[in-house]
Amino acid sequence: MIKAIKGFNDILPDQAAKWLQLESVLAEVLARYGYEHIRLPIVEQTDLFVRSIGGATDIVEKEMYSFVDKSEPPTPLTLRPEGTAGAVRAVIEHNLLRGDTPKLWYIGPMFRYERPQKGRYRQFHQIGVESFGSELPDADVELIAMTHLMWQELGLKDEMQLQLNSLGEIDERHAYRDALVAYLTDKEAQLDEDSKRRLTTNPLRILDSKEASTQALLADAPKLADFLGEDSRAHFEQVQAYLTALGIDYTLNPHLVRGLDYYNKTVFEWVTDKLGSQATVCAGGRYDGLIGQLKSVDAKGDAQNKKAVKSEPAVGFAMGLERLLLLIDAVAPMPAVSACDVFVVTHPEVFSSGIRYAQSLRYSRPDLRVKMASATSLKAQMKKADKSGAKLTVIIAQQELDDSTISIKDMQTGEQKVVAQDWLATVENFKPQ
Ligand code: ATP
Ligand code: MG
Repeated sequence: MIKAIKGFNDILPDQAAKWLQLESVLAEVLARYGYEHIRLPIVEQTDLFVRSIGGATDIVEKEMYSFVDKSEPPTPLTLRPEGTAGAVRAVIEHNLLRGDTPKLWYIGPMFRYERPQKGRYRQFHQIGVESFGSELPDADVELIAMTHLMWQELGLKDEMQLQLNSLGEIDERHAYRDALVAYLTDKEAQLDEDSKRRLTTNPLRILDSKEASTQALLADAPKLADFLGEDSRAHFEQVQAYLTALGIDYTLNPHLVRGLDYYNKTVFEWVTDKLGSQATVCAGGRYDGLIGQLKSVDAKGDAQNKKAVKSEPAVGFAMGLERLLLLIDAVAPMPAVSACDVFVVTHPEVFSSGIRYAQSLRYSRPDLRVKMASATSLKAQMKKADKSGAKLTVIIAQQELDDSTISIKDMQTGEQKVVAQDWLATVENFKPQ
């Protein structure tokens, strides 16, 4: 028997019903902020991710699903590991920034070759939100405030802690990187293996090392905050002032650096203590340079004169839906929705009348979930009705058709009675909840 691939999960009906509920809560909050939905491809050119996420990141170094298809000449392609790169590509390609500041959201599967464990999979799902065109701190805060409202709507507001940092601008970060490397080079022997490697490839990632010994070394390391220029500093202070004005609590985490190269200034994560080491449910930040960086690459993939290309500010976040559902199941389970309110059982000889009855009920009572079984024996249909979770079973037979009546059975009490055929058309007679 061929089985699903490791880390690629089926989402079975019980669970999928919760996904639909969760997605509708999140989509509704996004609508309340006026964000528009966009649908993007799952496969992009590999180059898009290498150029945006960065060659020395975990994602590009070891997590991408890349392949070539049958086109000539062969083009390296990748299953998207995240959504921002594709969203930015689409926004540039379709000129959505001309005279506009789009606020967009998308949802769908992402793919990363990681070690599968609770809250970490190879196919997982994100809702991503991107706000384009404003360099001002209110855009950052709008996204954070929106996620705050999402937690409220999902009953999670006491479970999430907001962590905040500023990465400054690229030259500030470079100056800091040099200082950090100088500080750590002396102590290289004491670093964990990953951090030793990162010392040359991506030194800032050492800051979020999980190794206690490395964290101890970092206690006296230079601080990124001391390298921020006036503009970055003022921007970050305004972000905090707006959050305070909104009553949104936050913790400054100077070691929050994020795993993708495109961020600048504000970065944030919403973390929980209920999911073990897969603690980050939602993460994002500002990426003012990415649009210019991707625009400056021509069709052949060659870099053009960077100075000639204007960038556009942007800020975004992505939320991991599996982690969000694990958290919801742990602390605030969503009420189960029944897949069936009314089950229609029909004598096989008059089955077309049963089909007609069920169909008219679906027209007249859109609030009801009306299910039928196939035209098997009455006994087999009743068994299905029992299993369905329906609150009411309608039984249709020749006698009832002659009298313009139906039999109804209350599935909780077992009580059965004969009523007029249009009895269910009156909402007061039967409400599903
Ligand atoms: P982590 O540090 O846990 O690996 P990350 O920094 O790689 O996370 P992002 O790229 O910022 O994650 O993605 C945003 C969110 O998507 C994460 O906070 C998480 O909720 C979710 N996510 C990322 N990778 C996975 C995965 N492999 N399985 C499930 N969810 C994931
Ligand atoms: Mg990761």
